[in-house]
Amino acid sequence: MTKSPFIMIKEEWERTFDAIPDLIAILDEEHNVTRVNQAMADTLGVSPESCIGVKCFKAVHGSNCPPDFCPHSKLLKDGKEHTSEVYEENLGGYFIVTVSPIYDDKGKVAGSVHVARNITNRREMEDNLKIALEAKKNLVKELKRSNKELEQFAYMASHDLQEPLRMVTSFVKLLEKRYKGQLDSNADEYIYYAVDGAERMQKLIKDLLTYSRITSKNEEFELVNLESIVDKSILNLTVSIKENNARITYDALPTIMADPSLITQLFQNLVGNAIKFRAEDEAPEIHVKAEDNGDEWIFQVIDNGIGIDSQHKDLIFEVFQRLHEKNEYPGTGIGLSMCQKIIERHNGDIWVESELGEGSKFCFTIPKSIE
Ligand code: ADP
Repeated sequence: MTKSPFIMIKEEWERTFDAIPDLIAILDEEHNVTRVNQAMADTLGVSPESCIGVKCFKAVHGSNCPPDFCPHSKLLKDGKEHTSEVYEENLGGYFIVTVSPIYDDKGKVAGSVHVARNITNRREMEDNLKIALEAKKNLVKELKRSNKELEQFAYMASHDLQEPLRMVTSFVKLLEKRYKGQLDSNADEYIYYAVDGAERMQKLIKDLLTYSRITSKNEEFELVNLESIVDKSILNLTVSIKENNARITYDALPTIMADPSLITQLFQNLVGNAIKFRAEDEAPEIHVKAEDNGDEWIFQVIDNGIGIDSQHKDLIFEVFQRLHEKNEYPGTGIGLSMCQKIIERHNGDIWVESELGEGSKFCFTIPKSIE
């Protein structure tokens, strides 16, 4: 009979020992079990007493000698505490096992205490999480691939449609020029609609091409002075500014890392819209502001135009979404989605603050450092 090196001195400790849900076994230096707690015995499906004197590797590892990973063997060699994560078939799962040395009164290792915590559920959860993460990664990869394919498709389609459309437009225009007033009034009307339709389709395709270029083009970020960018956008909008008697002002604007052509397009779209969606009885007043917000800049393009019903504030950023008929305000519904794409390219956010009849404030952020 093996003598236990571990002597319980209080009944409370006995109870505690058996109440602990971790599996505990005490071994002597010959690998003999001298004691197990109730949780260990229950897991092995035996009584605590029947374990006493059994070699630990027989009881738990189920082999005739200690396996390489046996923490007790390691402890007997170096006298140190060891913790390892092991799979124990006899115990039915994965465990974190800590073995701590027990010394005799001469300071020699006389055995060890094993505390094994069942981590099978945690491992399963981790494994499931790994599988879910892997599936998510694959999904994102697939989504990126199909997005890229779509972008290329949109680019090629709009690019290749330009040429035949140019031909249709120029021939219907020629038809209009040569035969207007020479055929009957119905023919004049039909030609008018054909020219109008062809011109609108040209604008749509041009906008689509610009939109798909934003996504297919590589970013070329450089230091960009926004005051000169806004000046350039104003210059590009000269005709409509004059036609509408618009006044555009801006506060001091910073120099940031950005793609200059995309940012010019962004301001041009926002200021262009601010002029287009002007109030009937007031000349457009447009103001551009920048606010330093720590790691990022917040920009605002503020107008005194017709405003936007707040229920549509997200919708207007979607491609082809417009709130008006084309005879009320011309347009393709691509401008703001283009702005959103440009801001996404710069790792920022864009949104609108507005109420109907109250003017609009288009806001966007651009981080100061762009990876
Ligand atoms: P488009 O200007 O070609 O219609 P956008 O994508 O630029 O397309 O804008 C989408 C819609 O958002 C517009 O049709 C208009 O209803 C609304 N919108 C955009 N800018 C303004 C603005 N500054 N004021 C009022 N409404 C605006």
